Amino acid sequence: MYDLLIIGGGINGTSIARDTSGRGLRILLCEMGDLACATSSASSKLLHGGLRYLEQCEFRLVHEALVERETLLRTAPHLCRTLRFQLPYHPGRRPAWLIRTGLLLYDYLNFYSKLPRSCTVKPDTESPLHKNFTQSFEYSDGWVDDARLVILNAMDAHQHGATILPRTRCSRAWRSNGYWQVELENRQSGQRRTVKSRMLVNAAGPWVDRIAVPVQQNHPQPMRLVRGSHIVVPRFFNDQHAWLLQHDDQRIVFVIPWEQKFTLIGTTDIDEPGDPGQAHISEEETKYLLQVCRDYFHNAPGPEDILYSFSGVRPLPATSTSQHARTLSRDYQLILEQPPKQGIQQYAPLLSVRGGKLTTSRALAEQASNKICQVLQHSADNWTASSPLPGGDFSTLTELQSQLASQYSWLADTVLTRYVRSYGTLCTNFLQGCTSIESLGEHFGAGLYAREIQYLQQQEWAVSLEDILWRRSKLGLHLSVIQQQHLRAWLSKQKIDLIAELWQR
Ligand SMILES: Cc1cc2nc3c(=O)[nH]c(=O)nc-3n(C[C@H](O)[C@H](O)[C@H](O)COP(=O)(O)OP(=O)(O)OC[C@H]3O[C@@H](n4cnc5c(N)ncnc54)[C@H](O)[C@@H]3O)c2cc1C
Repeated sequence: MYDLLIIGGGINGTSIARDTSGRGLRILLCEMGDLACATSSASSKLLHGGLRYLEQCEFRLVHEALVERETLLRTAPHLCRTLRFQLPYHPGRRPAWLIRTGLLLYDYLNFYSKLPRSCTVKPDTESPLHKNFTQSFEYSDGWVDDARLVILNAMDAHQHGATILPRTRCSRAWRSNGYWQVELENRQSGQRRTVKSRMLVNAAGPWVDRIAVPVQQNHPQPMRLVRGSHIVVPRFFNDQHAWLLQHDDQRIVFVIPWEQKFTLIGTTDIDEPGDPGQAHISEEETKYLLQVCRDYFHNAPGPEDILYSFSGVRPLPATSTSQHARTLSRDYQLILEQPPKQGIQQYAPLLSVRGGKLTTSRALAEQASNKICQVLQHSADNWTASSPLPGGDFSTLTELQSQLASQYSWLADTVLTRYVRSYGTLCTNFLQGCTSIESLGEHFGAGLYAREIQYLQQQEWAVSLEDILWRRSKLGLHLSVIQQQHLRAWLSKQKIDLIAELWQR
């Protein structure tokens, strides 16, 4: 029997699993696909307060997100980094005084931040902007590897005793004698089993209202499912900073340097009528993103430059269906179904998570855990704000990298940099005992060796090619089609049934 069964292995489910398992509760988390297979790997990957949300007077959310931005930069220093943004002043869009006021407020809302403050800059001769842009505003935010943040939360939860079951769907749940009975389905074998839990957390992201769970009453505020898409093109500017571009529909588009050689451009806001798992970019969205770039950059990419695209779906609480998606709140809701006064013994509690951001996921999990502990009458203190995520226990990246560079001097700098950025101190788990490049095993391209893959399979629940190349890493951008086919064939020869193994435990 478990204290808590969590449905959903995105950032919200895994953060709650981490926090509650660290408080001593017995946790099972089930995820119907791979960890981070949905919204949590399709974000813009920003740790940000959300400058734009100030226009909607979302001061609580912006303040919390700015504080959490610093917490993540501190607790996951390998996955996160500071990112400077330039916002070109466009005479036809928001007035300069409004932008300046917004940035002052943004700096002020996290007054104690060590990140550089906002300022005004003049584009230099190297600038990719059209010549008519004569002024930009600069400010700081953060960047994070979204999918790896999910994996690290799951790993920490597991280290604290949580059972993590990827590729396991919750097919239904019902209350019986004061407990939850939850039917789980192994998505690989079709095998089913029922487990018992004192409490249930529905962290199914865009599927939150589709889970077959009896609720007391439908929530008065319906959810709107809003799709956001990104395109990836070859890098078309040399600057290290990212861009925030204003469009004439009041929306903004991020243009972010990504994975050394690429640029990430997004996002859009379109109602998603279909299955969130099948969301993909439309022609209209692609045109929209390319047009915004053309409005600002003289060497903007064209449709032929698009290498890759991805879409994610946000569940947003909506007051009306006619409200524009861009103005819907990005704040989250934790909805607790309290046991009714009569029949407490018969009523197992349910907590549903609606909305949220990667940036505020730790704070969301902390609030959720406090509610859970209160309901389950379990006393334990908050702990995650000051505890590094797995691999984040080092003082500076430069120090860690130079220490590892002297220990593994035969390893190419680019490969070591990626290991340090992805795994932090944990990269020694698979480097240990290796004395030459040959000891890392077969090379699959772009510095991906068999030893790392085995680590991902054994420690990070990786099963498929996509798990390895698109979520545990972004090597899918760097490996050729032939290299990917070779890796797929190699993986299929291994015949490891990780899920069957996990189900037997
Ligand atoms: C386009 C876009 C850009 C964004 N950019 C940013 C950003 O830059 N910064 C930021 O802070 N936030 C950003 N966000 C928000 C952030 O990505 C989301 O708030 C966050 O990923 C939501 O996580 P989640 O865990 O609620 O949902 P998800 O990641 O979708 O996880 C829910 C999981 O539940 C699983 N599931 C569903 N049903 C079942 C079932 N029956 N059984 C088992 N498992 C089930 C799904 O497979 C899924 O993996 C962005 C969102 C979008 C859409």
